[in-house]
Order: sequence, then C-alpha cells, then structure tokens
Amino acid sequence: MDCIFCKIADGTIPSRKVYEDERVLVFHDIQPQAPVHLLVIPKKHIASLEEVSPEDEVLLGQLMLAAQKAARDAGVAPDGYRVVTNIGPHAGQLVFHLHLHVLGGEKLAALNPKNPSDSDPSPS
Ligand code: AMP
Ligand code: ZN
Repeated sequence: MDCIFCKIADGTIPSRKVYEDERVLVFHDIQPQAPVHLLVIPKKHIASLEEVSPEDEVLLGQLMLAAQKAARDAGVAPDGYRVVTNIGPHAGQLVFHLHLHVLGGEKLAALNPKNPSDSDPSPS
C-alpha cells in the first residue's frame, strides 16, 4: 500500500521516533506547528477515525495512552497539551492513515478564537 505512515511504521521511510511498541509508533511531525508536535499512529493501516470499528476499541485506548506517555516524556504534561485527529477534507486531513497530533510546549490558540480563555490580546 502506498501510504507514507505505513512506510514510516515499517521503517522504509525514516522518522524521528520517540516511542514504539508492538502496535503503536510515536514520532516527531516533520513540520511542527508547536514546540512539541508528535504524531501517534497505529502500525496497522486505518485511514481515519471514520474507518475504525468496535474491534479497534483496545487499539484506540493504546493510541490515547501513547499520546499521554509521549506528552509526559516530552515534558509538556504539567502545562497542558492538545491531542487532535483530523478526519477528511473539511478537517484538512492530508495523510490518510489514522494519527493523533500531540501539540504542546506553548500556550496554544483556542479552538474557538472568540473563547475568552485564548491567550491572544484582544481589545476590550
Ligand atoms: P493531517 O493534516 O492531520 O493529515 O496531518 C499530517 C501530518 O503529517 C502533517 O502535520 C505533516 O507535517 C505530517 N507529516 C507528513 N509527512 C511526514 C513525515 N514523513 N514525517 C513526519 N511527519 C510527516
Ligand atoms: Zn497506512
């Protein structure tokens, strides 16, 4: 299958790995959007969250736990971090192999820019 993350999972394409076990791989995003930007993928090819089924229930838990571990190991857990997965064109999914983005290391922009918890200065 011509999938870049399958090739990263099988070692055909190199990556900066930070964690690996039998089912899950965590590596640095090649174009980081935050000081810490990691990708958590299943080694098994699944195109997106839309494609998972109940038999993937355990795997989904393993991906979330790997995201937690990666954030802790990267030192961003105390201040907080974001875990996000893009699904399909409206979300801007570019790589059609399920992945969790783990973002942290700075105050992240609010998902809703009108949210008053956003750090951006705004006129009162
Ligand atoms: P998405 O838009 O959610 O599909 O995100 C795909 C992500 O994969 C982007 O943040 C890319 O920078 C990242 N990416 C693409 N190719 C590679 C690669 N070879 N190694 C690491 N990250 C990659
Ligand atoms: Zn794949």
